[in-house]
Amino acid sequence: MKTQILEFNPEWIDSRLLEAAGDVLRSGGLVAFPTETVYGLGGDALRGEVSRKIYAAKGRPSDNPLIVHVGRIEDVDKIAARIPEQARAAMDAFWPGPLTIILEKKPIVPDPTTGGLRTVAVRMPDHPVTLALLRQTGILMAGPSANLSGKPSPTTARHVRADLDGRIEMILDGGPSCLGIESTIVDFTVTPPMILRPGFVSAEQLAYVTGSPVALDPAVFGKETAGKEAPRAPGMKYRHYAPAADLILVEGAEPEHVVRAIGEYVLRAAAEGRRTGVLTTEENRERYPAADVVRCVGSRRDDATVAAGLYAALREFDDLGVDVIYSESFPGGEHGQAIMNRLLKAAGHQVLEAEHGRGHGP
Ligand code: AMP
Ligand code: MG
Repeated sequence: MKTQILEFNPEWIDSRLLEAAGDVLRSGGLVAFPTETVYGLGGDALRGEVSRKIYAAKGRPSDNPLIVHVGRIEDVDKIAARIPEQARAAMDAFWPGPLTIILEKKPIVPDPTTGGLRTVAVRMPDHPVTLALLRQTGILMAGPSANLSGKPSPTTARHVRADLDGRIEMILDGGPSCLGIESTIVDFTVTPPMILRPGFVSAEQLAYVTGSPVALDPAVFGKETAGKEAPRAPGMKYRHYAPAADLILVEGAEPEHVVRAIGEYVLRAAAEGRRTGVLTTEENRERYPAADVVRCVGSRRDDATVAAGLYAALREFDDLGVDVIYSESFPGGEHGQAIMNRLLKAAGHQVLEAEHGRGHGP
């Protein structure tokens, strides 16, 4: 099929373009849409056969549930059996925004949309194009990230095109996603509410707004749960994006130790004839002269810039064909938990400890 690409000016949204996207969605087609987190792959959430098409386009296992995107808070009543007070407080405080809420579903939500679960995930995205689309058409749009299974989430329409050109009807280009990593997911069907995936909305913010303690699923920083039975959230059951290259996270008590250790690893790998990459920040970008490819994701002074640049950088390493990537680590900052969760998954939990500037392993 031919994939149509519609370019939007987010300052002045052309409602005729939105109508064209609405036509595709009403006819059961798939439309990739921009959000503030990453690009999503949308289809009518209330039609099971459409959700099956989404899985097929992504090449993704079909028991991995989708997030339903809504344009109005009232839409949640159509799909959720019950909305606890705390969930309501969270929606009021953070929507539209990077927070996904898990609630008990109504029967109207078909099994393929929820991966067979009796719960449904809902979010109101904060992007002018997609919010206008949802509000103008009234469609509830199921959407996982718009990447091929096994690739990093897309943060530009170009990334979506690289993965899904010819596999979906339409891509809405609304510019780069400004946050760059997926939404925080909170399960409100358990007490206390539990974070299943960390993101820009933090546990502290959620606790403040809901007046309740908020738990963190231990699997968030646990090892791979692939193959094990009964994971808490189906999203954790499958191996996540892993670059074609080995990705190794290097941690250390001092940033200086990490830089020196990575320098040593690069020399060692190069001596073995491997093409090396380093994922770093503006502060250290000049410090890896021996690496074949150095990618700067952002600045440590504002780790939101690291989140914003992360997936694009991982895609570039793949495009440039490096054999091994050494990544600095980003704990401790405002978004450290969310960034490290994605990096650990991409690295398949390969972490090296840099001690006193000496690399040991790998
Ligand atoms: P993504 O495909 O990256 O956009 O994210 C969708 C993710 O939302 C899934 O992989 C799940 O981890 C999560 N999710 C969606 N619905 C549910 C649910 N009902 N229960 C738990 N996790 C869910
Ligand atoms: Mg995804």
